[in-house]
Amino acid sequence: MIDTHSHINMIESLSLDEIIKNAFDNGIDKIIVPSAYPADMENIMDLVNKYDNVYGMLGIHPSEVKSWDDSFIEKIKNYAKNSKIAAIGEIGLDYYWDKSFNDLQKEVFIKQIKLANELNLPIDIHDREAHKDTYDIIQEHNNGSKVIMHCFSGSVEFARECVKAGFYLGIGGVVTFKNAVKMKEVAKDVPLEKILLETDAPYLTPVPFRGKENQPAYVKYIAEEIASLREITKEEVALVTTENAKTVFNIK
Ligand SMILES: [Zn+2]
Repeated sequence: MIDTHSHINMIESLSLDEIIKNAFDNGIDKIIVPSAYPADMENIMDLVNKYDNVYGMLGIHPSEVKSWDDSFIEKIKNYAKNSKIAAIGEIGLDYYWDKSFNDLQKEVFIKQIKLANELNLPIDIHDREAHKDTYDIIQEHNNGSKVIMHCFSGSVEFARECVKAGFYLGIGGVVTFKNAVKMKEVAKDVPLEKILLETDAPYLTPVPFRGKENQPAYVKYIAEEIASLREITKEEVALVTTENAKTVFNIK
């Protein structure tokens, strides 16, 4: 399996070697690490150069766009010459924490979509309480990049709309939470061919480790929950979602 969105550079309780060993021991053989802060980009280049099975994404998280600088565009273009850069991400809109700079969020989001289009890379989308604006901006500005709705948090209706538009949905630990009725419904409803597994480690730890720090090894609990909701085997979930991830991120 592939953990398609995992901030392993932010995990505090384990070393990188431990994180990767635990992942392998639990059937996760590739990890894709998004950028959030500007300083992440250097860290991610180091990680992808050091570890064979670690891939990276470059970009600025919507909550961090005040630190955006147009010089990042050239920097990302340069870094993206490395074939282990699998996407531009995580980018998007977050109206949950702070609504005071929504316009700047939109502006930087659009710049990063255009950059992804130019680099022919998929976009890994952070959308928190901004479903409509996120969807509309992608539809208006994205020209050919594959779209992943990371940590999908919308309704079944919105999920169907995203699938219809060709987007992939990243499903993480939330689906294992007892009270996550909406998320369970989504995981059951959308075609398996559109689902990607992700932990968003160190956040959103699945049951039975909810409350502790998350890590890529826990992808298996997410796969198990999706399998049980859909009444199929965990192996089928693993097989299909791994193929999905290889297709969308263009990795072997
Ligand atoms: Zn994230």
